Amino acid sequence: MCGLENEVVTLRNKDMMDKLLLICSLRLWEEVSGYDENMNTIRTYQVCNVFDSNQNNWVRTKYIRRRGAQRIHVEMKFSVRDCSSIPNVPGSCKETFNLYYYESDSDTANRNSPPWMENPWIKVDTIAADESFSQVDLGGRVMKINTEVRSFGPVSKNGFYLAFQDYGGCMSLIAVRVFYRKCPRIITNGALFQETLSGAESTSLVAARGVCIPNAEEVDVPIKLYCNGDGEWMVPIGRCMCKAGNEAVENGTVCRACPSGFFKSTQGDQLCLQCPINSRTTSEGAINCVCRNGYYRTDSDPLQMPCTTVPSAPQAVISSVNETSVMLEWMSPRDSGGREDVVYNIICKSCGGGRGGCTRCGDNVQFVPRQLGLTESRVYISDLLAHTQYTFEVQAVNGVSDQSPYSPQYASVNITTNQAAPSTVSIMHQVSRSVDSITLSWSQPDQPNGVILDYELQYYEKDLSEHNASTIRSQTNTVVIRGLKPGSIYVFQVRARTVAGFGRYSGKLYFQTMTEEEYNTSIQEKLPLIIGSAAAGLVFLIALVVIIIVCNRHDSEYTDKLQHYTSGHMTPGMKIYIDPFTYEDPNEAVREFAKEIDISCVKIEQVIGAGEFGEVCSGNLKLPGKREMFVAIKTLKSGYTEKQRRDFLSEASIMGQFDHPNVIHLEGVVTKSSPVMIITEFMENGSLDTFLRQNDGQFTVIQLVGMLRGIASGMKYLADMNYVHRDLAARNILVNSNLVCKVSDFGLSRFLEDDTSDPTYTSALGGKIPIRWTAPEAIQYRKFTSASDVWSYGIVMWEVMSYGERPYWDMTNQDVINAIEQDYRLPPPMDCPSALHQLMLDCWQKDRNNRPKFSQIVNNLDKMIRNPNTLKAMTPLVHLPLLDRSIPDFSTFSSVDEWLDAIKMGQYKDNFANSDFSTFDVVSQMTMEDILRVGVTLAGHQKKILNSIQMMRAQMNQIQSVEV
Ligand code: AMP
Repeated sequence: MCGLENEVVTLRNKDMMDKLLLICSLRLWEEVSGYDENMNTIRTYQVCNVFDSNQNNWVRTKYIRRRGAQRIHVEMKFSVRDCSSIPNVPGSCKETFNLYYYESDSDTANRNSPPWMENPWIKVDTIAADESFSQVDLGGRVMKINTEVRSFGPVSKNGFYLAFQDYGGCMSLIAVRVFYRKCPRIITNGALFQETLSGAESTSLVAARGVCIPNAEEVDVPIKLYCNGDGEWMVPIGRCMCKAGNEAVENGTVCRACPSGFFKSTQGDQLCLQCPINSRTTSEGAINCVCRNGYYRTDSDPLQMPCTTVPSAPQAVISSVNETSVMLEWMSPRDSGGREDVVYNIICKSCGGGRGGCTRCGDNVQFVPRQLGLTESRVYISDLLAHTQYTFEVQAVNGVSDQSPYSPQYASVNITTNQAAPSTVSIMHQVSRSVDSITLSWSQPDQPNGVILDYELQYYEKDLSEHNASTIRSQTNTVVIRGLKPGSIYVFQVRARTVAGFGRYSGKLYFQTMTEEEYNTSIQEKLPLIIGSAAAGLVFLIALVVIIIVCNRHDSEYTDKLQHYTSGHMTPGMKIYIDPFTYEDPNEAVREFAKEIDISCVKIEQVIGAGEFGEVCSGNLKLPGKREMFVAIKTLKSGYTEKQRRDFLSEASIMGQFDHPNVIHLEGVVTKSSPVMIITEFMENGSLDTFLRQNDGQFTVIQLVGMLRGIASGMKYLADMNYVHRDLAARNILVNSNLVCKVSDFGLSRFLEDDTSDPTYTSALGGKIPIRWTAPEAIQYRKFTSASDVWSYGIVMWEVMSYGERPYWDMTNQDVINAIEQDYRLPPPMDCPSALHQLMLDCWQKDRNNRPKFSQIVNNLDKMIRNPNTLKAMTPLVHLPLLDRSIPDFSTFSSVDEWLDAIKMGQYKDNFANSDFSTFDVVSQMTMEDILRVGVTLAGHQKKILNSIQMMRAQMNQIQSVEV
């Protein structure tokens, strides 16, 4: 047997190939026993034919399977005899041999194949000895052993052979170890890498993807390592880290869940932390610790911070009252709840006032520095009512108070204010002026501190001393100062009086009387108006107007607006509406009546409609210290003129004066940034006309009457304030989610601008008028009063009861004017109780003095709601006092088809004919079911046809009575 088995040492990163058997191959390699350096017996292959020329001695290994390796390493142990030590050796003596390999997919080699020559064999290298020995020592003596390693690749077939060629040396091949290199399976950087074989070249790098160990996650990039030609891992890319709730243990090879009572909030190398005080975990692997009952954390508290609780009540509140103000001071709570963000809120309740119990104080009470979120333990509260008992609660709150289900703890103090004079009148303005008089109006003091008995106005000519001042008393907040000099400037101050005496005088205001020239010019400017009226055929009116102008030489300037101030019976001290356009500077009115809101408090969400001046949006308003609320935001589109801005904001100046549950509430305005905005409460169901059309037939009569009652109540409030709306219509009523209706749309501009784009408003002398909703006297001679608002209210009633039908359907405006003039009125809508239609007819009385007042309408509707039986009766058509002539008289048509055409329902001719409704007799008997059966499915069309049929029946009855 010419083979040799080698003892080899397996290195950690090397894999041995199969055990080697060297196969004796060609000539003169002999298998011989000998000793290694340690005198162990070894078997070697030897050759030593140095004295023969042309040596070519080969020895070949058995077939070695490749096992996936791409590069093969060969370690050879051998000894070589030094040629010079051999006496008489020829020059052909060699001290080297050659290493070859031959790849093959199977073990097919034999004695002759592959042939013993380079090509097919591939030469790896010529191997030389580092040391050669000088003594011939083949007979068992010690040899010098060389070790050389060579490698080759890439190899790709299933296996290979190695061969060693001697060509004239004297040597001994002792051991051959064949191996390949691989990078071992390892866990590093939080990931597991499987065993990976080195590449084909010694310089190759083989990329390997790692898999994160359980409960670890890659950070940023996919994790990778490269296996180099020496079987070493290198160039780590990326890494895996233990997930939140897990920490790295066992040298980073395991991610272990945090034990209970510990947490780790993020992915990373850090260890689990112990739960902070007042918190605990609910399971292992916690990513945070939950607070124990009664303890909380704010969103900004770090997770490692102890959980905290609400503070205890402030201590030792003391108060010192001074007239109608009070200073409160207190000490901080004994227990701050473990936090450092304790602040104080003041709750103000006024008690007594005859009603028993306490109620929250109104908005006018002032708190310095503020009412909520006080950081210091003191507050100054002023503008309280005189002689009133108050309770103040000083609440202590901190960052977690709003998470506690309990209201904050507080300490309270009771005080009673003293008597005090009224506060100062802050706003006064000129209503009108003439050559010798000025009419002034002012608002009630914010703090009347009792019933205002009267006002005292002091005035003097600007150029004279204050000592020459005259005074004038008035029981209302308006006064005409007569007997003034033309074209002179006067100084005015006003103060209010209660039983506690006079308040302080207001600041000085300067107003000037007209000069004679100004007066004459103003008369001339009015002439065209008067002539225009004459053209309209109202000659007698001219005489009247002229007489009025002549007689009212004083106060001629603002006749239109004066209605608000002179219409009589005002209670002293009662607030009345002030027209913002009576202000010299309308911006002043905005400042006075509308709160300026900082744009940072407003969050616009979506566009919900188109207003006259820009988009209307919904959004949120979060005022400091108040709860966030849903609001509607009217915007002024960019590129506006100063006049447009004024007109836009005038609506806020008007709305801001009102405070009633059935009048849309102004939250404030944004004028200091762009776009300019008006912010009002949000009305979820939008405008009433659209809302009713979308919910046709969906409400009970009581629900509809409830809506009407709300609108009437809002209008009563406005009328009491002397405000005339002029455009009351369902489109200008807004509805909230509780079906509460609120009067809105206080813009004046559409009456003023000469823009005919909206057909609802028809240009009329001196402004535009919504004809169908407007009382005849307002259309004819612009007599807008609360009584004309009552007429419009009757139309709104009709709109509501007909679910948003257009008043007078498709009649032209001129037809409507003519019909009203001839005493025609709208008929009851379908299913409308006769009591309601009667109320409408009352509102449409020609003589405005005969129309009900809004207070009577509210009472009337209240009675109906309390007594729903009154709503059961429906008006029999034949008894209608005023028939609807807008629906043509059927008797003028020769066929049902013609009649259908006339009522603009011609598209149903075939439906009627096919169902045998082809004579007036049968058609007049049709019921709602019949109309449905012939195929009229649209609610509006059904109503139109049913109305026309009812009219037909009424007309038939009239004909019959005439015949009788
Ligand atoms: P206006 O300019 O007041 O006629 O508003 C135009 C449209 O915006 C109305 O027809 C409503 O649909 C909508 N809108 C106005 N104000 C509000 C509000 N307070 N709440 C909800 N929708 C509103």
